Amino acid sequence: MEKILNYINGNFVVSKSNEWIDNYEPATGQIYSLIPKSNSEDIQTAYEAAKTAFPMWSQLSHEDRSNYLLKIADGIEKKLEEFAEAESKDTGKPIKLARSIDIPRAISNFRFFATAILHAHDEAYDMGKIGFNYVKRKPLGVAGLIAPWNLPLYLLTWKIAPALAVGNTAIAKPSEVTPYTAFLLAKVCEDIGLPKGVLNIVHGFGAEVGEAIVTHPKIPIISFTGGTTTGKRIAQHAGKLLKKVSLELGGKNPAIIFDDADLQRCIEISVRGAFNNQGQICLCSSRFFVHKTIYETFKKNFIEKVKNFVPNDPILPETSMGAIVSEMQIKKVLHYIEEAKKLGGNILYGGKRVEFINERCKNGWFIEPTVIDNLDPYCSVNQEEIFGPVITLTPFESEKEVLEYANSVSYGLSAVIWTQNLKRAHLLADQLEAGIVWVNNWMVRDLRTPFGGVKESGVGREGGLEALHFYTEPKNIFIGLL
Ligand code: NDP
Repeated sequence: MEKILNYINGNFVVSKSNEWIDNYEPATGQIYSLIPKSNSEDIQTAYEAAKTAFPMWSQLSHEDRSNYLLKIADGIEKKLEEFAEAESKDTGKPIKLARSIDIPRAISNFRFFATAILHAHDEAYDMGKIGFNYVKRKPLGVAGLIAPWNLPLYLLTWKIAPALAVGNTAIAKPSEVTPYTAFLLAKVCEDIGLPKGVLNIVHGFGAEVGEAIVTHPKIPIISFTGGTTTGKRIAQHAGKLLKKVSLELGGKNPAIIFDDADLQRCIEISVRGAFNNQGQICLCSSRFFVHKTIYETFKKNFIEKVKNFVPNDPILPETSMGAIVSEMQIKKVLHYIEEAKKLGGNILYGGKRVEFINERCKNGWFIEPTVIDNLDPYCSVNQEEIFGPVITLTPFESEKEVLEYANSVSYGLSAVIWTQNLKRAHLLADQLEAGIVWVNNWMVRDLRTPFGGVKESGVGREGGLEALHFYTEPKNIFIGLL
């Protein structure tokens, strides 16, 4: 059985415990590799390596650091197919999604921050005859970077690239459920000659390895993407140690469809917004509010399009819907479907586990895309994050009513509005409690924009300048002229 290894101080190593965790292929439900079960001792070794590398790395010129990151991007690009196959196998996502979104975005993350640091400028504040201030942005030291399983390489590199670009060294922890592409990334770092200790990747359980990073007294900055419950725990630990933290957490995103929407385009995009990556994207819409005058038409046409999402072996090039990432996650999704039935919901489409796809996938974790209506907007199914291919439809009459529904959840990551009425779009976008609002589209991302959520969807922002600022500490220096 293949063994994934930790990458510490430029070496591929087993964990100190020499114990292993099973790594499953969601499409088959079978173990296909083993992950090091690391603990706080491995984190301490990684910390020593990162700390030793920090002075050299932080003092390199911007151009030199940029070149290393560009080489990493090129290295991933050269092996795009290998990365895409690994991501699909590890997560259960359709290979075409890994090829077209996950891996290209990981490459873009490195290229974006490699070039961003070449163009970033420092601030200065003139005080006339008295003197002037200038602001130096300095890296903090060793950054702790923790990522989830839904977009493994995409989200891990979204943290690694800016952290390293501005001169920090790092310890990164991928989800134990999806470690493989982080292992491949480590191999690319070795191939391109990234100096030892600049990036360390340590595998293992979140409660053990993740917690060891968060509670390490000398790691001053934590960037975390994952569930809200874990995020709150991390915030507590980080609070006690006064660490800088960025938390990108869960969501329960609304899509609001008015009667003047371009319905054909809206439905085409909304179906992807609901079921791409089996609904396991933090930005997926899970609550669709549709104006009552077009409710029946929307419902009928939406369901017609959902039929294109047929769960199938993710390895096949035509597959648009793959497997759910883990047994635990499939149980959670099925629980919410049962809950919806108990609450009087109508299962308009799907609702069941797919028992057999082919011989290879007979024990895989597949669920039909599921559309439910007739649920109270305030019930548990409409308030709690499911993070799977389950969405609800709810009719509304007025803007006031739909705004109340949309903002009623504890989350506030993203929202979508479909309307041709510009004034309404602006006013509503302003009032929706969300970090990002798309009008007449979904998941269009510009890496320069601030990314993050409000309420229980997170604290802080990633992306563009926000990330460059997060991973640095500003120091104000006053020069007196009197
Ligand atoms: P988890 O919170 O379970 O885990 C996220 C990461 O944290 C994993 O690497 C996990 O390790 C680790 N972890 C778990 N416990 C701890 C701990 N006590 N201390 C430190 N690290 C820990 O989330 P999931 O992996 O289940 O991801 C799904 C969630 O992520 C959803 O809620 C989704 O909405 C959210 N998400 C948010 C995004 C955003 O940008 N706002 C983007 C993508 C997802 P391990 O897996 O090994 O246990």
